[in-house]
Amino acid sequence: MKFEDKFSLPSEWLSDESKQIVESCREIVEKEIFPVRQELDEDWKEHKIYEKLLKKLMLDFGWQCAPWPKEYGGFELDTITYCLCLEEMDRGDSGLATAADCGNWAFMPIFAPYPNEVLIKKFAPLACQTKKLFVGCAAITDERSGSDVENIDGTHGQYIATTAELDGDEWVINGHKLWPTNSGGVADLFAVFCTTNPGVQDDASFAIIYVPADTPGVRQGDPYQKAGMSGDKNGDVWFENVRVPKENRANLKPGDDAKAARLFMNAGNIGASAQALGIMRNCYELVKEWCDKRVVGGKILKEHSMTAGVLADIAMMIEVSRSDTYMKARMMDNPDAYGIDPAGKEFLAKTRANKLFVTDQMTIIINKAMDLMGSHGYAREGHIEKHWRDSKIISLWMGGRGLAKLDIARWFYDCKTF
Ligand SMILES: Cc1cc2nc3c(=O)[nH]c(=O)nc-3n(C[C@H](O)[C@H](O)[C@H](O)COP(=O)(O)OP(=O)(O)OC[C@H]3O[C@@H](n4cnc5c(N)ncnc54)[C@H](O)[C@@H]3O)c2cc1C
Repeated sequence: MKFEDKFSLPSEWLSDESKQIVESCREIVEKEIFPVRQELDEDWKEHKIYEKLLKKLMLDFGWQCAPWPKEYGGFELDTITYCLCLEEMDRGDSGLATAADCGNWAFMPIFAPYPNEVLIKKFAPLACQTKKLFVGCAAITDERSGSDVENIDGTHGQYIATTAELDGDEWVINGHKLWPTNSGGVADLFAVFCTTNPGVQDDASFAIIYVPADTPGVRQGDPYQKAGMSGDKNGDVWFENVRVPKENRANLKPGDDAKAARLFMNAGNIGASAQALGIMRNCYELVKEWCDKRVVGGKILKEHSMTAGVLADIAMMIEVSRSDTYMKARMMDNPDAYGIDPAGKEFLAKTRANKLFVTDQMTIIINKAMDLMGSHGYAREGHIEKHWRDSKIISLWMGGRGLAKLDIARWFYDCKTF
């Protein structure tokens, strides 16, 4: 497959260094992931191939240094460069991209909106090196519900089931998390979303506390078998009287962890859209190659006007989705220029809208691509079916369509619904 990116890029906002980083990412993906992607689904449990690929990205490419501040040895990538790299990873394999992205995403609450110098100093030496994996895991989803944790502005932590109680200078954590990316034994550090005051609606009780995976009382189950996303291990994680120092809370000032969680959701929404764009672009490449060569009714497929119309729809959806995604990425990095708070409700509504729209386009594009490729798109070797199985969860995670719509309606229409 010949690499081609005809879609508009936010070039004005990209430095030469950023372009080089994205190019290096693409080279690794094309050299290491594309040749083996047919074998990856069988590797969902053992992760023999996946572990090597994760090391290629996190260590050889240096992805685990990507979000950390430069003064601590990180790359401090801007959101646009970060998202363009995610696009490239998702062109290859969205499960692996999810593992690599969430491995970093879990640290976001200690970077912004209020940098926590104590925790940055504590964890940076482990992350900002390229010899040994240091993978994060955002443990949000409770057994009871994921949305109830993520519905920050609806229920304000009232239904969070995982608890943290202060005992002297230590937090004592109890709870049962399901699904977090990089569970199943991959992660080194959990960001545990919990409450210090169960059953109470109060942003001050919303807590994000960092727990090393080898802390006594942390127990993990086997990875679940899923429709796709095999590169991402998801399983149960139990926290039973787990003790960590008081300083491991992302923000010590009451209410600031809820703000950090909102900013974290915003970054997650933009990242999810970038992931969807990577899948959409790969569908475009596959379909273009197919329609350039396939002859039906004595004519190359793309020269049938009916096909050309479908191809135009695919290009249109990618072009528009990309423009809005990088607009949101730019807003994240330059909030003052846009008059927004990157941890605020307005931006949450707007990033939710972006993710909902872009992932909807992704689903439509995958279906259209499969229509055009017929049974070849449905076959393993056609690659489209892999995107079909992998992609659905991108619109479901972080509270799914239901919570996304609530956040949008609450800000744009001042709805009180929760
Ligand atoms: C590949 C993969 C990766 C994942 N990664 C992570 C991760 O890194 N960390 C993590 O913690 N979890 C992760 N998850 C879990 C995922 O984020 C949750 O499953 C998701 O947030 C939804 O939670 P739930 O399944 O408990 O559904 P529920 O919260 O029970 O929601 C059920 C339905 O109700 C809707 N809904 C939500 N709120 C409302 C409301 N107020 N009113 C009406 N309807 C509502 C939802 O949209 C959904 O349709 C992952 C899952 C997968 C499969």
